[in-house]
Amino acid sequence: MCLISCKNAEFQYNGKAVLKDVSFEFNSGDYLCIVGENGSGKTTLINGILGLIKPQKGEIKISKDISAGEIGYIPQRSEIQKNFPASVYEVVLSGCASRLKIFPFYRKSEKSIAERNMELLEISNIKNKCYNNLSGGQQQRVLLARALCATKKLLLLDEPVAGLDPLATASLYSVIKKINKEHNVSIIMVSHDIKSAVKDSSHILHLNNKPLFYGTTDDYLKSDIAKFMIGGNDND
Ligand code: ADP
Repeated sequence: MCLISCKNAEFQYNGKAVLKDVSFEFNSGDYLCIVGENGSGKTTLINGILGLIKPQKGEIKISKDISAGEIGYIPQRSEIQKNFPASVYEVVLSGCASRLKIFPFYRKSEKSIAERNMELLEISNIKNKCYNNLSGGQQQRVLLARALCATKKLLLLDEPVAGLDPLATASLYSVIKKINKEHNVSIIMVSHDIKSAVKDSSHILHLNNKPLFYGTTDDYLKSDIAKFMIGGNDND
C-alpha cells in the first residue's frame, strides 16, 4: 500500500530552489534511507513530508490511512532533547498525548502501550531513571519508544545516530531494523552514513539538491554513484 507519493516536488527558500524534481513512492513496510551531503536537502524533504513546509512545485501526498499525529518523528538531536527533566517512563508516555482526545489524563490503555514500547526498546529496566542522566544511545531509545507510542505505521528519523559511539550506533541500527522487520513499522531515515544506510534499508533516495538516485537498495549498490560513494570511502 502506498503511504507517501511525491511527484516532481520542488522546495524553495526565499525564492531559491534548494531541492528539485523529487519523485518517489513510499510503500507500507519500506525502509527508505535518504542520503546525501550536508545541505543536499534531506531535512527540507523531511519537513515537506511532515507538512511543515509545502512544495512550491509538484506535490507530496500522504495516504488517508495515516492520520494527523500518526507519524512518529525524531528530529536531529538538539541540546533541548539532551536535557529533559523527566523520567524515562514519563517521556515515553508523553508519546501517547495525541491519543488522549477528550480525556485529560493517561488511562490504562496508554500506560500499557508505553510499557510495551519500553520493552521493545529494552529500556524497562531504566524506566525510573532521569532522562537527563542517560547516555546518548539510551536517550535515542527512549525517543524511539516515545515515537512508537504515537504510531504503529511510520517513523521519520533525522540522523538518529549522530554523535553516538560505534557500539551505540550499531545497537540503535539493529533495533530500528527490528522495528521495521518484526513490527512492520515503515521507516524513513535521514543519514549521511551511506555504508550503514545500505545495510538495512530496502530503498535509497540519494539527494544532491535533486535526486541522484531513487530505487531499491540492491539496484543502488549496482549503480555508479554507490560504487563511487562507497568505494571511495573504504578507508573511513
Ligand atoms: P541537509 O538536511 O541535507 O543538510 P537542508 O535541507 O537542511 O539540507 O538544507 C538544504 C539547503 O537549504 C541548504 O543550502 C540550506 O542552507 C538551505 N536551507 C535550509 N533551511 C533553510 C531556511 N529555513 N532558510 C533558508 N535556507 C535554508
